[in-house]
Amino acid sequence: NRFDQFQLSDVILKGIYQIGFEEPSPIQSECIPAVLRGEDVIGQAQTGTGKTAAFGIPILERIDLNERSIQSIIMTPTRELAIQVSEELRKIGRPKRVKTLPIYGGQSIGRQIKALQQGVHVVIGTPGRLLDHLRRGTIDASHVEVMVLDEADEMLDMGFIDDIEQVFSFVPKQRQLLLFSATMPPSIRQLAQKYMHKPKYITV
Ligand code: AMP
Repeated sequence: NRFDQFQLSDVILKGIYQIGFEEPSPIQSECIPAVLRGEDVIGQAQTGTGKTAAFGIPILERIDLNERSIQSIIMTPTRELAIQVSEELRKIGRPKRVKTLPIYGGQSIGRQIKALQQGVHVVIGTPGRLLDHLRRGTIDASHVEVMVLDEADEMLDMGFIDDIEQVFSFVPKQRQLLLFSATMPPSIRQLAQKYMHKPKYITV
């Protein structure tokens, strides 16, 4: 059970080893190959299982540095989680020079717009503020290939369903969708039913 058994480039393996991961956690072993194959994935997993790297590593692998566009959008329920996810992806993606940016409410929108203009490959944000940027045209989602809903049950509990669905309306239909949730209530199943294509269900 090793990271080098996956189809990962040397520059991503370097990032993984530099942050000190030695071997993949169970969710990473299942999720990384599925996401690299282009599958939609539902991951039922708590924090602490390594779920962030489970979706983050294959997303970073697939980033095309020749494209100066946002290629992945990750939605989180809170600014704290957005920052945490962005930091982990920034560290793993450092040798490859992938640019990540957390976007959340309560921070100056002007500052976020400046940061977005520097060129960002992966945006990690809370639904309301992401939607704000999409409507202003300061986030262009037309090149997004992978979307992630992280802690989806929390986002629904916080009343973000309308914002999430609005965000989807800006993203190309043929995008890949990864959904992570600690619990699978009917509202999550409905969301999956509506937006996912033959999802692979992974539970740890
Ligand atoms: P998460 O479940 O994504 O919040 O990750 C929980 C913690 O485990 C974070 O501090 C990660 O950096 C760490 N972690 C994730 N994957 C691995 C791994 N394969 N080896 C060691 N630590 C890991």
